[in-house]
Amino acid sequence: MNILLLGSGGREHALAWKMAASPLVDRLYCAPGNAGIAQEAECVALDPTDHAAVIAFCKENKIDLVMVGPEAPLCAGIVDDLEAAGIKAFGPTRKAAQLEGSKGFTKDICRANNIPTAAYERFTAPEPAKDYIRKHGAPIVVKADGLAAGKGVVVAETIAQAEAAIDMMFDGGLGAAGAEVVIEEFLQGEEASFFALCDGTTAIALASAQDHKRAFDNDQGPNTGGMGAYSPAPVMTDEMTRRTMSEIIEPTLHAMAAMGAPYKGVLFAGLMITKDGPKLIEYNVRFGDPETQVLMLRLMSDIVPALMAARDGVLKSFDLRWYDDAALTVVMAAKGYPGDYRKGSVIEGLEDAAKVEGAQIFHAGTKSDGAHILANGGRVLNVCAIGRSVAEAQRQAYAAVDRINWPDGFCRRDIGKRAVERGA
Ligand code: AMP
Repeated sequence: MNILLLGSGGREHALAWKMAASPLVDRLYCAPGNAGIAQEAECVALDPTDHAAVIAFCKENKIDLVMVGPEAPLCAGIVDDLEAAGIKAFGPTRKAAQLEGSKGFTKDICRANNIPTAAYERFTAPEPAKDYIRKHGAPIVVKADGLAAGKGVVVAETIAQAEAAIDMMFDGGLGAAGAEVVIEEFLQGEEASFFALCDGTTAIALASAQDHKRAFDNDQGPNTGGMGAYSPAPVMTDEMTRRTMSEIIEPTLHAMAAMGAPYKGVLFAGLMITKDGPKLIEYNVRFGDPETQVLMLRLMSDIVPALMAARDGVLKSFDLRWYDDAALTVVMAAKGYPGDYRKGSVIEGLEDAAKVEGAQIFHAGTKSDGAHILANGGRVLNVCAIGRSVAEAQRQAYAAVDRINWPDGFCRRDIGKRAVERGA
């Protein structure tokens, strides 16, 4: 098979690494890729927003499957366009991708199907939104309806903060994404990331993970795309997994099929595990980043037949095997991230770091200038390791981090801390 992977981050490096190990794969291409992905795949300078160019490339290179990494091309309908051109693609159609593209759409699906989630209301004007906030009090959560690159959620501790978020969104602070907002109840509990592979009617649970969203140790500092993750998440017991599948994932698949938008691809549920059980915080319509990096390290089965089975609608009799080992990833980011940061600094010691037992390094934002690997983004490296426990994976991942010489970078030193304290 010839496969084209779309994307350029650590998630795509982990997927490329796993797909490149498949005996089914003849040629693996990635557009646009990065310096790490270039070790696994042929990187091509294709713009994923130019669907016609992607289709032409697929025809020319006899691509059997396109794997779409990030949400933006999915929400823009790249799967619809590829499939219409006779090219198989993994991921949801534009209509099904609304599960990530519109928070209000997802909340309405939850309400109509008794899927546990925070109580909410949708608003298209500031005054009724503020009335609702004053009526319900703080803490309360204000969300832009559309895609806002991780900046669309304000967990407000006071009514004044919530009102300021409303003004910011309706004043166009997040562009079109904030033209509508969802206001919802603040949920208490522990968060977990849950992934299911879906073929339109059947879902199979993948492993669970937990990520760390804040920039600095002890969950301080601004929100980021994710500074580290580990798998499995101890809070996702077998019982919690079973309940998540039957109370959240399966009713969602049912509802999507019933509205003529069957969901195919990876469904990533951001969960709050409350005292009443799992509640849906949000859906993403693709693999998580950096959770995918730890999932791919734990996946024993070949991923390629699983992706094909999801695309072809034949997951029913499918089974995926996982290593019992835990996996952990530490994100190394450019100093200043998630604010302004510099590009182009030299990273050394990567080969030495990769020699640590159990370690695996995935590149997120890097490029090569021939002799050196250079930082080329905010999140730059995913330093990962597997181990018999989260504690061992953590030890090995940080041993690898300590061999990397990159004065312009930083990382959190406490990834996995809570799980390790619990004895995981
Ligand atoms: P989201 O982008 O919807 O995942 O939200 C980003 C983060 O905001 C989540 O990971 C949670 O930490 C927090 N959050 C979102 N919604 C809620 C909620 N209803 N209650 C408490 N925290 C929330």
